[in-house]
Amino acid sequence: MVYLNGNFIPKSKAYVSVMDRGFLFGDGVYEVFPVYGKKIVGEELHLKRLQEGLDAINIVNPHSNENWSLLIRELISYHQDYHNQSIYLQISRGCDDDRKHTHGDLMPTVYMQSTPFASKSKNDLLKGSAAITRDDIRWNQCNTKSTSLIANIMYAQDAKNHQAEETILCRNGVITECSSSNVFIVNDNCIYTHPEGPYILPGVTRKIVLNCARDCQILAKEKTFTKQDLMKADEVWITSSTREIMPITSVDGILINDGRIGDVWSLIYDRYQELKNTN
Ligand code: PMP
Repeated sequence: MVYLNGNFIPKSKAYVSVMDRGFLFGDGVYEVFPVYGKKIVGEELHLKRLQEGLDAINIVNPHSNENWSLLIRELISYHQDYHNQSIYLQISRGCDDDRKHTHGDLMPTVYMQSTPFASKSKNDLLKGSAAITRDDIRWNQCNTKSTSLIANIMYAQDAKNHQAEETILCRNGVITECSSSNVFIVNDNCIYTHPEGPYILPGVTRKIVLNCARDCQILAKEKTFTKQDLMKADEVWITSSTREIMPITSVDGILINDGRIGDVWSLIYDRYQELKNTN
């Protein structure tokens, strides 16, 4: 079952008009909520980011947070056979009578679907993962979770073509984030990640990881770092709602810290699992 504009219907019956601006222009925003059993991790933070995205592109939020919560829970309830599910929520500006760049006030199109997902076990993560780096050519409003994802899609496909997990992005020598995750390094037991602002998506997992660092009394700084810092870091990890916290052991074919996975990652990973599994 999926949710489309007020109704829960089978995915095979869910259609939108070719005039939908989501289809024509990628004119919309989206969110992804990770759900473990019935627990939605970071629900409030995801709804807050959704509101900020809608504000940024001038779409009136079609629902209150209370309503979203109810709708998301109803969608979850249709998929109880999924152990973990990720809820994809998209709001596009809606349909006009013809294709034109400008728009009047339209009725937004609201779509939600659920996909099962399995987070990797700690043992699997300990095998390490590869990443590649590319220049970050995206616009200066990466903090808006826009459905216009062409650059991110190209980076993700590039990683796949290189048998890598992710593409780490570099803007003027500074590491920003990845195609669909945030990036962290550890040096001398201090965690670094790019500060919030126009160059990264403010990841919900990123925020939770910073709280985990505080809980574990590990120093964490929201401070930029360079590609050279990345290559000689003690640890590199990426974070997202569905990947959780994943250690990266090679970048552009070069091993990070001789391919060793660090103790800081292990502590933060364990703390994140604790939080995710408590109600
Ligand atoms: N950066 C980008 C570009 C992303 O697409 C994502 C995933 N939505 C993230 C970071 C991680 O965000 P979150 O932790 O909220 O999933």
